[in-house]
Amino acid sequence: MKFRNFKMVDYVVFGRGAFDQLDEILAPRRKGDAPMIFFVDYFFEGNETFAKRIPLRGKDKIVYIDVTDEPKTKYVDKVRDDLKAEFGEVSGIIGIGGGSVMDMAKAVSLMMTNPGSSADYQGWDLVKFAGVYKVGIPTISGTGAEVSRTCVLTGPTRKLGMNSDFTPFDQIVLDPELIRGVPVNQQFYTAMDCYIHCIESLQGTYLNAFSRSYGEEALRLCQEIFLHKEKWDDDADEKLMMASYAGGMSIAYSQVGVAHAVSYGLAYLLGTKHGIGNCIVFDKLEEFYPEGVKEFKEMVKKHNIDIPQGITKGLTDEQFNIMIDVSLGMAPLWENALGKDWKEQMTRERLRALYEQL
Ligand code: NAD
Ligand code: ZN
Repeated sequence: MKFRNFKMVDYVVFGRGAFDQLDEILAPRRKGDAPMIFFVDYFFEGNETFAKRIPLRGKDKIVYIDVTDEPKTKYVDKVRDDLKAEFGEVSGIIGIGGGSVMDMAKAVSLMMTNPGSSADYQGWDLVKFAGVYKVGIPTISGTGAEVSRTCVLTGPTRKLGMNSDFTPFDQIVLDPELIRGVPVNQQFYTAMDCYIHCIESLQGTYLNAFSRSYGEEALRLCQEIFLHKEKWDDDADEKLMMASYAGGMSIAYSQVGVAHAVSYGLAYLLGTKHGIGNCIVFDKLEEFYPEGVKEFKEMVKKHNIDIPQGITKGLTDEQFNIMIDVSLGMAPLWENALGKDWKEQMTRERLRALYEQL
C-alpha cells in the first residue's frame, strides 16, 4: 500500500475528573466473571485515596507496576504468566501511569492471546492476534504512548516496540487532574519528549499535511506552557495532555529523528530513560535542529531544569560501538531526519563524535 492505513484508538474521553467514569466505561466490556486487571504505576502504591477510586468488581485486581527500569520483555512475560496462572482469562487490562505503564498494559494485553515471548514480537507487524481489551490512562504526559501503535520494550537483543495494528488502545481516558503533582524535572523530561517529537516530525523528510497539523499544534501548546506561562496551573495540565496526544498523532504518520535514534543507543547501553535521554541528546543537536535546540535551551533555563552532562565520559571503544550499532539500526529515524542518503551523511565517526559530546 502506498499510503499507510493506520489504526487509531477506538474511544477517547477527555475531561477533568473523567477518571471517575471508568466503572461505566468498563461495564459493557466485562466478560462473565473474568476480571479487569488494573496496572497502576508504583508511584501510587500505598495511596489509599487513589486506590479507592479504582472501580474494582468481583475478582478484579490491581497490579502495581515497578517502573524503576523501562519495560523489559522478561517483565511482560512474567506478568502475563502470573495472570494466566491466577485467572486463566481476563476481561481487560487498564494501564494507569506514564509511558512505561501504558506500554506494559499494551504488551501484556497482546501477550494474553499471542503465544511465546514478547521478545518474539519486537518489530513491525509480527503480532498475530488481537490482544484482550485494553485501556490507557496517562498520569504523566508527553510520550504519546496513549495514541501510538507501539509499546517499547527492552529485550535480550534489542530495544524495540511491538509495532502493530493490534497495539493501539481500545479506549483512552484523558483526565488532566491525574498529571498534577509530577515532580518538576520528571514532568519536563517527559513533556520534552513531546516537544522533540514535534521538532523531529516537522523537520523530517516524511512530513505530510496530516503530521504537520498535529505537530504544529502540539508545538504551539508546548511553547505556550513552557515559554509563555508564568505559573503552572490547571490550564497547563490540560494543554500538556493534549500536546502529548497531538504530538503522538503527528509521529504516527511520520517518524522521529536524530534525538531518538541517538538516545536509543544510550538507553540500550546505559539504561538512560527515554525522556531524560532525549533531553541529553537534543541539547547537543544544534547542527540538526538549530531553532528547536535554541528554544529548548530557553525552556531549560526558564524552568531551571538539570540536564546531565558527561554521561559517556570514560566509556570504552567497545561500548561506543554498541551504542553506534543500536543507533544506526534505526534506519527509518535516520532516513526521516536526513533523507535517503543518510548513510553517507551519518558515518560511524560522526556519530561517535556526537556520542562523545553527551
Ligand atoms: P515513566 O512512565 O517511565 O514514568 C516516569 C516517572 O514518573 C516514574 O518514576 C513514575 O513512577 C512517575 N510518575 C508517573 N505518574 C506520576 C504522577 N502522576 N505523579 C508523580 N510521579 C509519577 O515516564 P514516561 O516519560 O511517561 O514514559 C517513558 C516510557 O515511555 C519509556 O519506557 C519509553 O520507552 C516509553 N515510550 C513509549 C512510546 C510509545 O509510543 N509507546 C513513546 C515514547 C516513549
Ligand atoms: Zn519519544
